[in-house]
Amino acid sequence: MSDYQRICLVHYHEIGLKGHNRKAFEQRLVHNLEALLAPFPVVTIHRISGRLCVFLKEGCPAEVALDCASHIANVPGVARVSCGFKCERDIDQMTKAGIAAMSEAGHMESFKVHARRSHTDFPINSQEMNQIIGGNLSDAFPDVAVKMKDPDVTVGVEVVQNASYVYARSIAGIGGLPVGVSGRVVSLLSSGIDSPVASWKLARRGAEVVGVHFSGRPQTSDASEWLVDDIAHVLERTGCIARTYIVPFGDYQRQIALTAPPELRVILYRRLMFKVAEEIARREKAGALVTGESLGQVASQTLDNIRCTDAAVSCPVLRPLIGTDKLEIIREAQRLGTFEISSQDAPDCCTLFMPRNPETHAKLPRVLEAEALFPIDQWVAELCDSAEVHDYRCPSYKRKR
Ligand code: ATP
Ligand code: MG
Repeated sequence: MSDYQRICLVHYHEIGLKGHNRKAFEQRLVHNLEALLAPFPVVTIHRISGRLCVFLKEGCPAEVALDCASHIANVPGVARVSCGFKCERDIDQMTKAGIAAMSEAGHMESFKVHARRSHTDFPINSQEMNQIIGGNLSDAFPDVAVKMKDPDVTVGVEVVQNASYVYARSIAGIGGLPVGVSGRVVSLLSSGIDSPVASWKLARRGAEVVGVHFSGRPQTSDASEWLVDDIAHVLERTGCIARTYIVPFGDYQRQIALTAPPELRVILYRRLMFKVAEEIARREKAGALVTGESLGQVASQTLDNIRCTDAAVSCPVLRPLIGTDKLEIIREAQRLGTFEISSQDAPDCCTLFMPRNPETHAKLPRVLEAEALFPIDQWVAELCDSAEVHDYRCPSYKRKR
């Protein structure tokens, strides 16, 4: 157990962060981390010269600090997180903290010290600190070589106004922007593999995500709804989803299936989904819809069909996976932690009433003609009103209703 207070130092990319943007970004990230780190023994989070410092409680074990750092690394807006100690601005103390940090950094054959001082009131410059602390650590770890280029471990030493921070363990973060700085989107969330990844990508760019799931209920069981809830809980861990609307869609699909030309069914279902999602976006004050579509992946994802579904709404439809191969999406879903859930079978409204030969090159006038047989506006209102709302923890999201 070390004598020094444990800290996690959060680094973010500063590119494009100027003036008001920068302040809003930092404040948002602090608030998001404060809420998301509730399960960890955190005392407080401060901004220190281009970094955020998460102070952990006295006696916090090394494994808990590492767990906390791994959690932070997955929060949008975090470029890197380092695990270490706070100590006085004193070379002896920094050396001792460096020894403690290196002892916990696992096996290494080489290291170097990278020092940085944000206040020139500290008399020793960074070059000198590298040499002095590097020499001291080298004496303490005679079997570990000093290596300037690509060492196994870089010991970071950061001297600020009234303290210094020393770390040896560092984890790459997922980058992006803190959730809440880029507005709000409504994401069409199936229980499949693609749409959770698409939703996450928008959250990673700072958007609050409100999910809409169309369930086959009452024509099917509610199995897909449970999977969507499991997926939302995974996204919730890093503050990437605010709520979901679960819309029972089965009876409406059935009515379309009974009367519309079979090859146009899928397009008509999808246009109705988009219209419902747009109405929810209006109620939620969201600026765009999001889908997990990827060009040519299935019949509905051709350019002609995308044109016909987009024509159902006037708000922008974002498709962050449009140019991504299925295997790449699967890898992202595995990293995100939703793949296993999405791989479970559940009859959702897409598998229900599927025609044998869906149209792949729909023409809008024909689609509009087929759609004119249905009281679409009334259906949209009914579907929105029958939606069940589930709330998740998204720190920036202001709840209403
Ligand atoms: P996914 O893996 O995301 O289900 P998919 O490859 O199965 O996608 P489609 O079934 O054509 O492809 O769906 C395309 C997109 O339409 C999905 O990514 C999702 O955004 C939306 N979508 C499809 N089904 C539903 C549903 N039941 N509820 C909400 N959105 C849906
Ligand atoms: Mg699907």
